Amino acid sequence: MYDLIIIGGGPAGLTAAIYAVRAGLNIAVFEKIGVGGQLLLTESVENYPGFSFISGPDLMEKFETHARKLGVMITYEEVKDTRSTGKGHTVITDGGEYETISIILASGSMPRKLGVEGEDQLMGRGVSYCAVCDGPFFREKEVVVVGGGDAAVKESIYLTKLVKKVTIVHRRDKLRAVKILQDQAFSNPKIHFIWDHVADRIEGDDKLEGITIKNVKNPDKKKTVKAGGVFVYIGHIPNTGFINADKTDDGLIITTSPMLETSIRGVFVAGDCRDTNLRQITTCVGDGALAAYSANDYVEKFKSGHL
Ligand SMILES: Cc1cc2nc3c(=O)[nH]c(=O)nc-3n(C[C@H](O)[C@H](O)[C@H](O)COP(=O)(O)OP(=O)(O)OC[C@H]3O[C@@H](n4cnc5c(N)ncnc54)[C@H](O)[C@@H]3O)c2cc1C
Repeated sequence: MYDLIIIGGGPAGLTAAIYAVRAGLNIAVFEKIGVGGQLLLTESVENYPGFSFISGPDLMEKFETHARKLGVMITYEEVKDTRSTGKGHTVITDGGEYETISIILASGSMPRKLGVEGEDQLMGRGVSYCAVCDGPFFREKEVVVVGGGDAAVKESIYLTKLVKKVTIVHRRDKLRAVKILQDQAFSNPKIHFIWDHVADRIEGDDKLEGITIKNVKNPDKKKTVKAGGVFVYIGHIPNTGFINADKTDDGLIITTSPMLETSIRGVFVAGDCRDTNLRQITTCVGDGALAAYSANDYVEKFKSGHL
C-alpha cells in the first residue's frame, strides 16, 4: 500500500511529489499524457520568480529532473476512478488498481472548446488550442485568436513571431489580461482586435477557411473573418471526473479547510483543479507543497492509529 498517490504530473503534482518524498513518504505519481501539464503549451513564462524568461517545457523539465533526482517515479497511466475503502483508498487506472492511505488531486484542467459547428471537424486542421505546438504550421498566414485573458494575449504575442496577422476576437469590449500583456499587445502592429463578438461557426470542409462570429449585443449581426488558423483560449475545464469529492458547478474541487482537505477524508487537492481565485505556476507550487504537508500529517496519524 502506498502512503500517497498523486494524480497529475504538472507543476502542482511534481511539487507535491518533491515535498512528499523529502518527508519520507512512499508515493506514486500517475500521469496520463506527459509530465509538464499545461505548461507544455506555452513558449514563454515570465512571471515565475527566479526566471525572467523560460519556456514552459524547459521549466517543467527542471521540475521533473528535480523530482526524479529525489527518486520520484512517474507512472504513465490514466486514473479512471477512485474509491474510499474505509482503510484508505483504491485508485483505479487504465493499468491496474492501487491501494493508498492518501491522495493528492493535481489533475489540472484541459482547454474549453468553443462548442460551435465545424470545431471538432477542423480540430488539428486549422483549429488549435496550443500556439506553441501548432503555430509553426501557420507561418505567414492570418490567424484568429478567440479569448481575452492572459493566455489568449500572451499566445497572440508569441504567434506574431510566426504569422502575418493575428486578430483577437473577444466577447467583451476590453481585455481581461494583465496590464503588461495588454500594453505589449496594443503596441504590436500585427495584432488587431474585434470586440464584443463570439464564435458562431468554424468555416471550411477539409481545411479551415475562417470563422464566423456574431455580435454579443446584436446576435443577428454576423461576419466571417478569413483565417488560416483559429486558436482558442477561452478558459479551462477541470479534470475531476474520476473523483466524487464535493465540487462547484464547474467541476472544481472544493476545499474544506485551509490545509487543502476535500470532502473525502485523506484526499487533498492542489493546483488548477481546485476552486481558487488564481491559477498560476506560483499558486500551484504553493498548493503542491501544502497538500503534501497535509498528506504527510494525515499518513502519520493514520499509521499511529490517531484517526
Ligand atoms: C497557454 C498557457 C500559458 C500559460 N502561461 C502561464 C504563465 O506564463 N505563467 C503561469 O504562472 N501560468 C501559466 N499558465 C497556467 C499554468 O500552466 C497552470 O496554472 C498550471 O500548469 C496548472 O498546474 P497543475 O499542476 O494544477 O495542472 P496541469 O498543468 O493542468 O497538470 C495536470 C496534469 O494532470 C494530468 N492528468 C489529468 N487528468 C489525469 C488523470 N485522470 N490521470 C492521470 N493524469 C491526469 C494531465 O495530463 C496534466 O499533465 C498557462 C496556461 C496555458 C494553457
